[in-house]
Amino acid sequence: MSNEHITVIGSYVVDLMCQTPHMPQTGETVLGHSFRMGEGGKGGNQATAASRLGSMVTLVTRVGNDDFGRAALAFFEKEGIQHNRIAIDPVETTGVALILVDNNGDNQIVVSLGACGQLERADIEAAEMEIANSAIMLVQLETDLAAVEASLEFATKHAVPLILNPAPFQPFDLAWLKQVTYLTPNETEASALTGITVHDQHSAMQAANKLLEYGVKNVIITLGSKGAIIKQDHASCYWFSSFEVEVADTTGAGDAFNGGLARALSRGTPLLEAMRYASAVAALSVTRMGTAAAMPLEHDVLELMH
Ligand code: ATP
Repeated sequence: MSNEHITVIGSYVVDLMCQTPHMPQTGETVLGHSFRMGEGGKGGNQATAASRLGSMVTLVTRVGNDDFGRAALAFFEKEGIQHNRIAIDPVETTGVALILVDNNGDNQIVVSLGACGQLERADIEAAEMEIANSAIMLVQLETDLAAVEASLEFATKHAVPLILNPAPFQPFDLAWLKQVTYLTPNETEASALTGITVHDQHSAMQAANKLLEYGVKNVIITLGSKGAIIKQDHASCYWFSSFEVEVADTTGAGDAFNGGLARALSRGTPLLEAMRYASAVAALSVTRMGTAAAMPLEHDVLELMH
């Protein structure tokens, strides 16, 4: 295993997307069109992002013993992602996200986590060797919190730096933040974590200061097309504006950003440079439709940065 290895612990779901002329009312059936299916879930997306950029990645998740689960394993094999720590859940089906997009581009999404919602401490324990040999770990909140807590514990045990992307937000014990090296909320998640409404650079700085007080070492708040901030102490703050690109679909921007950040940090890239790299990865991902499928190759990222 290379010393630039990344372990991603999180969800895998299949995105089932359909265009609709309007959102159905309760009890209504609408004739939609343009059905598309794609690999998704924050764990799967972030693993795909880092892998396409050239990292050796192990994904720890669960899928069902069904066609979607088998397709997921084939996808990770094709992407070169280590899938020997993906458990096949004996009971639950593979997770799905049912996505409706209307003519205004607005969406409604229902996620059934299924198998990956069953991820538990034993799955993390089974991956201890991969964790111990990782340059960095990447964890989200789209699983049972017991899996997140175990991830933090093993990261601390093996002194592996950990990126926690607290998405989608669910309340957790803020004492865990002491074990987090990089915390990467978006505006909504930073607001939920701090009670401060984050909508611009100033409010993001205030929220980041509050999060530093909980013991996080580096707070990175992403603000969509407005860019991102990073704060490591109360005195300084760095602001990164986003790259200007033609937007096709912004879903998965946060996942691309986190995968890019992990890739850069795993190679020892200084943090500020890693932020710029992550911003470029995320910008390229919004120029393409889909989530995992939209993750760029490193060659394109370097081209955008120059
Ligand atoms: P999502 O939930 O859609 O995956 P997110 O809310 O977690 O995304 P954002 O804060 O929207 O994450 O975006 C993450 C990063 O992606 C931003 O900091 C920025 O660098 C980049 N980004 C997002 N939207 C755009 C855009 N329209 N143009 C260029 N870069 C963008």
